[in-house]
Amino acid sequence: MAPDLLPRLIARTAATIAAHAEELTTLDQAIGDGDHGVNMKRGFDAVAAAAEEIAALPLAGALQKAGMTLVMTVGGASGPLYGSLLMGMGKAAGQDGGADAAAMLAAGVEAVKKRGKSEAGEKTMLDVLVPVAAALAAAEGAAAEDAPTAAARAAADQGLAATRDMLATKGRASFLGERSIGHLDPGARSSALLVHAVCDVIEDKA
Ligand code: ADP
Ligand code: MG
Repeated sequence: MAPDLLPRLIARTAATIAAHAEELTTLDQAIGDGDHGVNMKRGFDAVAAAAEEIAALPLAGALQKAGMTLVMTVGGASGPLYGSLLMGMGKAAGQDGGADAAAMLAAGVEAVKKRGKSEAGEKTMLDVLVPVAAALAAAEGAAAEDAPTAAARAAADQGLAATRDMLATKGRASFLGERSIGHLDPGARSSALLVHAVCDVIEDKA
């Protein structure tokens, strides 16, 4: 792993969330309580504030510390869920950081499902995270010219778009029943933003 990868990932994800905080809040106003942008910005600002300490750790510890920071600062359902994602990825990274990205994301997604008692198809962040994990797993066996980041970006965009017509059955949006249909899910949007931010850094466009 490149030595400056973690600081760049932290800076880029925090900047992306800050730039889109209002949009996330607007989405959450439509089908939730209108705090998703504020929640996510608080969490990612806290991770960015601890960037030096986090980036000094081996990958497993860095992901676990970033995840714990989100759990403690985000508030709202998304904090423990994104925290579980990062901590699940950290556990899968192992002490030597040996696991590949696809295996790590798969483990993180399983941790979100367990924590949220949720699956893809319920109009949540999992509608982005599950297809992105599947795309990364598929890209591993594919030809080298099919960049995994391109597959991850496309899966994130499709997964996000698909949440519009879904009926929410988990989280606050589920209280709206049929009225949740016709709106993008805020957590799916934040997940898609994070996927693109991570891909930017991996492709060195950050
Ligand atoms: P809250 O709903 O407590 O106000 P946020 O607004 O920060 O928290 O986050 C809402 C997002 O969290 C939703 O848009 C959805 O993507 C995600 N979410 C909520 N409940 C679940 C769940 N059980 N499983 C997966 N994701 C969930
Ligand atoms: Mg909310």
